[in-house]
Amino acid sequence: MIYRKVSINSFGVTNSFGYGIGVAICIKLSAVNHSCKPLTRVCFRLVYLLETRPVLFSFFRKRIAILAPVGDRMPATLEGACHSYIDELMPKSMRQSLLKKKYHFDCKCEGCMDDERNALMEAYSCGNCVLGWVRNTEDSRCGACGWQITRDHYELCRTAEESAIAAKPKLYNTTIASATRKHLGERLLELFENTLHDSNVHRMPVLRSLFETSLEERE
Ligand SMILES: [Zn+2]
Ligand SMILES: [Zn+2]
Repeated sequence: MIYRKVSINSFGVTNSFGYGIGVAICIKLSAVNHSCKPLTRVCFRLVYLLETRPVLFSFFRKRIAILAPVGDRMPATLEGACHSYIDELMPKSMRQSLLKKKYHFDCKCEGCMDDERNALMEAYSCGNCVLGWVRNTEDSRCGACGWQITRDHYELCRTAEESAIAAKPKLYNTTIASATRKHLGERLLELFENTLHDSNVHRMPVLRSLFETSLEERE
């Protein structure tokens, strides 16, 4: 019961790569609503405060949580300042089941109601034109050129999608050597070429992992 309360009122703390590194509890922040298409993001800022209570004045450092706007849309109220309780760069079905399991609600946010946006997050590349995309279904058509997905193209895209899902735990597992994760990421990126559209969120763990491993290499 206590675990459940803590889990609902807490939020994940991530490093600059988006990896979860801990959990924080903040009652004020836990009152801010969730959205899979958030207007704000929780950030931590280091502030220097003047301590006046002791006999001697002293400065001390404190981390404060702030809600930073994500894009151009500024929320007018705290109720409207929704942020995402989870990594929102996941397909709708994964987001919904995670929110249900962890926070016990059925998400009906702006992002979950936007069918086109959700389809684009799982889109396959068009097999005919450069920028076009098709839905991840067997009978989809490209909105840009009208091309209908073939059986072969569908199977190829589905393999890339399944490989991306299977590789995610390995890519995020920092106990695996950085060179191994980098090699896996590079092979997956090749597999995504002409299969997973640039907007497809299954690309994200690979891109995050490659960004991190390349930084580790430079250090
Ligand atoms: Zn949602
Ligand atoms: Zn096309």
